[in-house]
Amino acid sequence: MTRSDTDFTARATALDAADPLAAYPGEFVGHDDPEIVAYLDGNSLGRPTRRTAERLSAFVTEAWGRRLIRGWDEEWFELPLTLGDRIGGTLLGAAPGQTTMGDSTSVLLYKLARGALAMRPGRTEIVLDRDNFPTDRYLMESIAADSDMTLRWIDADFDGGVTAADLAAVVSERTALVVLSHVAYRSGYLLDAPALTAVTHAAGAMLLLDLCHSVGAVEIELDTWGVDFAAGCTYKYLNGGPGSPAFAYVRADHLADFRQPIWGWMGRENPFDMAHGYVPAPGIRRVISASPGIVGMLPIQDMLDLIEAAGMPRVRAKSVALTEFALDLVREWLLPRGVTVSSPIDPARRGGHVTIDHPRFREITARLWQRGVMPDFRRPHGIRLGLSPLSTTFGEVLAGVAAIRAELDADLDV
Ligand SMILES: *Cc1c(COP(=O)(O)O)cnc(C)c1O
Repeated sequence: MTRSDTDFTARATALDAADPLAAYPGEFVGHDDPEIVAYLDGNSLGRPTRRTAERLSAFVTEAWGRRLIRGWDEEWFELPLTLGDRIGGTLLGAAPGQTTMGDSTSVLLYKLARGALAMRPGRTEIVLDRDNFPTDRYLMESIAADSDMTLRWIDADFDGGVTAADLAAVVSERTALVVLSHVAYRSGYLLDAPALTAVTHAAGAMLLLDLCHSVGAVEIELDTWGVDFAAGCTYKYLNGGPGSPAFAYVRADHLADFRQPIWGWMGRENPFDMAHGYVPAPGIRRVISASPGIVGMLPIQDMLDLIEAAGMPRVRAKSVALTEFALDLVREWLLPRGVTVSSPIDPARRGGHVTIDHPRFREITARLWQRGVMPDFRRPHGIRLGLSPLSTTFGEVLAGVAAIRAELDADLDV
């Protein structure tokens, strides 16, 4: 052990001991599993909470097993809206009646974008950035292929993201919709959302914000910022489990005019009338198309319990402390080995993950997974250290970066 190893080990121990949220990692399944040395991908798939293990089994035996079809009347029909309101209130800064659950983020982004475009007739451009998550780009490509919309692309900095100046340079009276990710999935850049909303609105356009990589890690104030539409997934920092339903937000004053293109029965006014002709349900329910995935909404409720008990300001503070610690380790141990940082250095512009690059990271990631250290690999040659605030310890961050260093040194031996 070098001097820096001893210092950093002592610092990780001290940070974990002083962490006001130190009790939370123990709330997750697998926390004490010796084979999981460092889980650094909670921003791709959050760990299950212990409470979820009980809730899912009780659901099978009780709510589903014994209430049977009565469950729809008793709880499930309203669950997308009640859970949506809870996510809105706890995590999005959204007053009730503007958030609902259903579908995947991809499907919701499509529905929201089509609905938004219909509200800006005569405008012909969608603005988006080339480094946005693939699904966001492909969906807008599909809309452009099906309509006379033109895509106007922003090329942002590799280690940053879209700034207000970048956006101001491309919006115009032709812009109908701006589609951006609040936290960039690769670099981790955290947008200045109020400033970008203002630039969008000054051009008379609307903003659709993808919250997948910010919700549950970063504080969000959709109502205050004036964001028009938003969607995000629940299996990342909200620990809903693989493929859990996404959420959609439509600003209250847009709801009356909002029409989405998938006219399923569950989004109709009085769906159980089985009537002829589609009439959108009043309010946010009109975003729904089909029977919502109830099972996938169960784990989210347990994670919300934990986040509400911890409080979002403390969750964000822990998130910043984790990424700061990771960057300190990277500077000391990995930069001398040829690694570069592709995330913002300013914590105010950074979400809950840090991306580092090295030409050998693809093969190294595979070896890390074998030894129980699980970050994510991101093209072209990035390792993404995803630090889920409630489940990740400083000790895990230390173990993870130490393992990357060991793999880089092993490469030097061959
Ligand atoms: C994870 C993620 C998605 C996921 O979309 P799905 O429809 O759930 O597969 C979308 N956008 C961003 C920015 C993401 O990070």
